[in-house]
Amino acid sequence: MLNKKILHVLVCPLCKGRLVYEPHHAQLVCHLDHLAYPIKKGIPVLIPEKAIKLNGE
Ligand SMILES: [Zn+2]
Repeated sequence: MLNKKILHVLVCPLCKGRLVYEPHHAQLVCHLDHLAYPIKKGIPVLIPEKAIKLNGE
């Protein structure tokens, strides 16, 4: 599982905004950029090229 303490440190590499952890999808979401950063084996992959674009909302 992802260390909860790390979540307070993590920010979006694009906008430096706060990321929202979604445990069910194992991803960190930036609502400003509409991007979901995957978490691979407990390690967040904060690379914009690897992020998944979210549509709508
Ligand atoms: Zn962002």
